[in-house]
Amino acid sequence: MENMDRLHVAGLRREELEILFAELGWPRFRARQLFHWIHHRAASDFTQMHNLPKAIVEYLAENYLSPLALRLVLERRSIDGTIKYLFELRDQHTIEAVYIPEDDRGTLCVSAQVGCAMNCSFCATGQSGYVRNLSPAEIVSQVNFVRSILPQYGPGLTNIVFMGMGEPFANFEAVMKAIDIITDEEGFNLGQRRITISTCGLADKIREFADLKSQVNLAVSLHAPDNERRTKMMPINKRFPIEELLDACRYYTYQTNRRISFEYALIAGINDSVQDAEQLAALLQGMLCHLNLIPVNPVTSFDRPSSEQVERFQRILAAVGIPVSVRRERGTDIEAACGQLRQVHRKNT
Ligand code: SAH
Repeated sequence: MENMDRLHVAGLRREELEILFAELGWPRFRARQLFHWIHHRAASDFTQMHNLPKAIVEYLAENYLSPLALRLVLERRSIDGTIKYLFELRDQHTIEAVYIPEDDRGTLCVSAQVGCAMNCSFCATGQSGYVRNLSPAEIVSQVNFVRSILPQYGPGLTNIVFMGMGEPFANFEAVMKAIDIITDEEGFNLGQRRITISTCGLADKIREFADLKSQVNLAVSLHAPDNERRTKMMPINKRFPIEELLDACRYYTYQTNRRISFEYALIAGINDSVQDAEQLAALLQGMLCHLNLIPVNPVTSFDRPSSEQVERFQRILAAVGIPVSVRRERGTDIEAACGQLRQVHRKNT
């Protein structure tokens, strides 16, 4: 892994690129030009970089892998505008990303790992097991690839969420490095507040993230109001039970003064009763948070509740003053839910 990573200049911070260029005896501004080409202009090939000396372009092409660490193998467009991409990495493993356009924003949902080790019962990615972490270059390349092909009209790419395949906090270093690159003012220059990391609840990493005092948004997948059910749905709850998780969330708020988004996938007959809503309200009361209710994507044997049940659940939480919204469903016709397209692709090939 380490080795593959080194060969991708796209996974280097600007300062690291400058050090590399200094070692090769090239001026620092050449490193900044290369960084600009890769991360500002989203170039897919060294030969596009016409203001770099030919000798440098040739050296890079010979000794480093392409600025894009992945290749598109499948693209699906939903009638609602959502686009799902299936990418192949150099070792032939595949990952997904989803582009979701809205009026004034375009959100890209990116993957942090090939597969996932967390094994949540309702999640398609978890079912296919864990393969490996993505390198910073592979994370950044999802963003740069999509930027390179989006049309000039429309909202473009304005937001990034780590809600694709994998658990971003189980690949902490690479995700943080990718974010540093994506937010670099000489690269894509995306604001930290336009990026969201979603975690299944690695409390130790939430604390580590809190200490960074970053402006990157934090979303926490909660999905159940008590430990017994949460452990059944999300095995990670054995290691970090709800009390410990919420303590880490309070620590995050204390350190950053930023609002946390809690994700709660509503599953019919499992976690959607009136009592569940009341229990959840009691858990979240007084926290600086927002609650996102997501009618479950029925990838496994689970069903989504009726819209009346969803509204009833929402009303109970809103009544005690918890900011709550229901996530609109996007891209169901293209298997846009986490891990789904990859499964379908595998079955077909
Ligand atoms: N591992 C991270 C991020 C990836 S999943 C996490 O757990 O947060 C992004 C979000 O989609 C998480 O909230 C996850 O619980 C949710 N999710 C996964 N499968 C789902 C499904 N079938 N229906 C609704 N939400 C789902």
